[in-house]
Parts: sequence; C-alpha cells; structure tokens
Amino acid sequence: MNIFTTDRVAALLPRLRTFVAQEIIPLEAAYLHGSFRALEPQLEALRGRVKEMGLWTPHLPVADGGLELTLTEFGMVSEELGRSPLGHYVFNCQAPDIGNMELLHQFATPKQKHTFLEPLMRGEIRSCFAMTEPEFAGSNPVNMATTAVREGDEYVVNGHKWFTSSADGSAFAVTMAVTNPAEAPHKRASMIIVPTNTPGFQLVRNIKIMGDEGDSYASHAEVRFENCRVPASNLLGKEGAGFALAQHRLGPGRIHHCMRFIGICERALDLMCRYAVARELSPGKPLASKQIIQTWIAESRAEIDAARYMVLHTADGIDKNGAQAMKESISTIKFFVANVLQHVLDRAIQTHGALGITDDTVLAYWYRHERAARIYDGPDEVHKTVLARTILKQYGYDVQSA
Ligand SMILES: Cc1cc2nc3c(=O)[nH]c(=O)nc-3n(C[C@H](O)[C@H](O)[C@H](O)COP(=O)(O)OP(=O)(O)OC[C@H]3O[C@@H](n4cnc5c(N)ncnc54)[C@H](O)[C@@H]3O)c2cc1C
Repeated sequence: MNIFTTDRVAALLPRLRTFVAQEIIPLEAAYLHGSFRALEPQLEALRGRVKEMGLWTPHLPVADGGLELTLTEFGMVSEELGRSPLGHYVFNCQAPDIGNMELLHQFATPKQKHTFLEPLMRGEIRSCFAMTEPEFAGSNPVNMATTAVREGDEYVVNGHKWFTSSADGSAFAVTMAVTNPAEAPHKRASMIIVPTNTPGFQLVRNIKIMGDEGDSYASHAEVRFENCRVPASNLLGKEGAGFALAQHRLGPGRIHHCMRFIGICERALDLMCRYAVARELSPGKPLASKQIIQTWIAESRAEIDAARYMVLHTADGIDKNGAQAMKESISTIKFFVANVLQHVLDRAIQTHGALGITDDTVLAYWYRHERAARIYDGPDEVHKTVLARTILKQYGYDVQSA
C-alpha cells in the first residue's frame, strides 16, 4: 500500500501477486531453458484463465473489455506483472502491443480499429512498432531513410529498420516513414500500418541480444520493406503527424516500463534475501550475517521505494494534468529507475555468486535484456539533458543556445 493506492487497486493487487507466483513464475524455467514459442500453448491457456477472471487487458476501458484503470493504478498493476518476464504477456498488456493499442484507440479510423485494434485487444494477433533504423541515430529519430510514397490509392513503403521488437510473428507493423520530405524535420514522417504478410516485408533476422536471439514475442528484429504496397487508408492520423502521434506513446509508455522495472527489482531483492539467508558460508553463518550483504539489501530497499514514489507521483501528475505538464518528471524517472534496476540486479547476481550468472534463476535473463533499459525510450544522456536544461533555465542559462 502507498498513498496512491485506491480501493479497487488494493483489491486487485493481491490477486495478481498470487496468480503471478502460482501460475506464471513456475513456467519461467521452461522459458529460460527453451524458447518463448515452445511455451506458447501453456501461455495461451493462462491467457484464457486471465480472461475468465475478468483481468484481461487491464489498461483498456471497460467498454473494450478492460478495467479502466488510471495510469497510476495501471502502474501498480505493471509492477506486479513485472515480477516475471512473462507477466505482461499473459495479461495482454505487453510492450509494444500496449503502445500500439493506445495509438490505435486514439487515432485509428473505424475500419482500422475493426481490422487491427479489435483482434489485438482480443489477443488473437500481435503487433510491432518500426521506427529505428540502423543507419541513423535513434536518439534523434527525425532522421530516417524509410519512405512511403503515395501512388493512387496506395503507399509504397521502402526502408530498413532494426530493433523492431516482437516483429517475429506479428500481424502488422506500425511503421514510421517519410511521406512529406519537403516539410520541417518533425513534420516529414507519418505512421502507416503495414501488415507483415504484405509482399516485400522481410524479417531479416532476430538480433542476438548479449548472445540471446530470442523468438516470437520475445525478440527484436531487423526488417526490410521493399516496395511494400499498402492501402492509403492504412495511414494512421494525418500525413506528417507521425512524430506528434509518437509523442502520445511516450509519457504513459515510460510509466509502464518504469513500474515494470520496479517489479523486476522487487523480485530480484526477494531472491537476494532468500539466498542470503539460505546460503551458509560455514555452519550457522549465512551470507545474510555479512554486513556488506545487509548493506546491499538496505540500499536496494531504499532505492526501490524512492523509485516507486517518483514514478507514481509522475503517473498521478499525468492523470491529473497530462504528460506535457510532467515532461521533466518523465525524463527523470526514465533514467533514475533504469539505473536502480541495474544496481539492484547486479547486487542480486553478486549475492548468488556463480549461480547468479546461470539461467537457473531469472536474474541473468534480466541482466542481459534489461541493460537496454538505459537505451530504449531515450538513452539516459538524453533524459538527463532534458532535466538539466530545465534546471539551468532557472539560473538564466539556455542549454539549447550553447
Ligand atoms: C531492447 C530494445 C528494444 C527496442 N525496441 C524498439 C522498437 O520496438 N521499435 C523501434 O523503433 N525502436 C526500438 N528500439 C530502438 C531504440 O529506440 C534506440 O536504440 C534508441 O532510440 C537509441 O538509438 P540508437 O540505438 O540509434 O543510439 P544512438 O542514437 O546512436 O545513440 C548512441 C548513444 O549515444 C549517446 N547519446 C545519444 N544522444 C545523445 C545526446 N543528445 N547527448 C549525449 N549523448 C547522447 C547515448 O549514450 C546513446 O546510447 C529498441 C532498442 C532496444 C535496445
């Protein structure tokens, strides 16, 4: 419980905690030693149970089958589900689908909703988001080479993307492409829905992440668009509005990620404490008797609690005043919590000794895959610049003009 806990979320969280602990975490070993695809039948069965329990797509409005939670409430849900790498998927609120659902919800036409959003909400299909290109700095994505040229009633899409998360097995890619090259940089690109069965769409490879290629939902792909022809009606929003639409993904998306990071931290701290108590250096002398281990536990507890309050405070501000009003806080939590995550995971691994770097616990998986937390959704350095710029402005210094 914390000051942001509402009655309905207080009733919900223990149910989620139990379900994650009893139903999802037991599947982790098979995932860590096998593949996501091999686990899909069991995950499907769990997804069915989540639907029956009325907890499916908790982020969506009630009319769409969700729980109509505020962003702050969903943040707390995200923490619970984040305790396992499989949690969000089982509840159909996993990135990048959750971001695409939000985009389509706000900006899709009725036909686009029917074709793409509805099956996504039902969990019948998955999707991906293709913006970053290997040849250009993703930190400044206005620079891109992918184009969508209008020819009659179609767009012809050509381009090269990478880190298109979960493209393997996705039904469509929300694709950022230049449609208006003569406009100002942030008005050149549009979002276009490209079904992945469009001739010319090519999944080149799943990129190995620290040695782990992954598959299906749990992967990051390099993709190519070679003369992909899609109906002009697949344009999302207006031509040239791609970056404006992308902005809508960012505020809530960062809350989702940060609360998921906190869920990971809680699980890592739990594993660390259990191991510290159980592992004996000599009879009757567990690791927990050592002051350095106690220090790591205390530091982790303090950092996680601080992180949670910062994120929930930011989410509450977004709920009340919108994302723009919380711009600096959104940047602050993104780099702060990503670093807390890394520190806590590192201490948990160190406490586990050699076991910590095996896949016999979930720690090494997270260490491999969440190093990226300091890079995606804006690298640390970009967020720190946003924050410092605001602070220095109060001292009469304009970073932008330097
Ligand atoms: C796991 C993962 C999943 C991803 N999923 C997706 C996805 O689904 N769809 C998608 O389109 N993209 C995705 N991305 C791509 C992601 O958005 C980019 O990696 C990110 O924007 C950074 O771009 P870049 O990798 O090109 O790094 P660059 O922009 O080349 O930056 C390299 C480094 O330079 C430094 N730097 C950059 N800008 C500044 C600055 N202004 N000041 C100081 N230092 C700076 C930072 O340290 C940064 O890490 C994903 C990336 C990862 C790692």
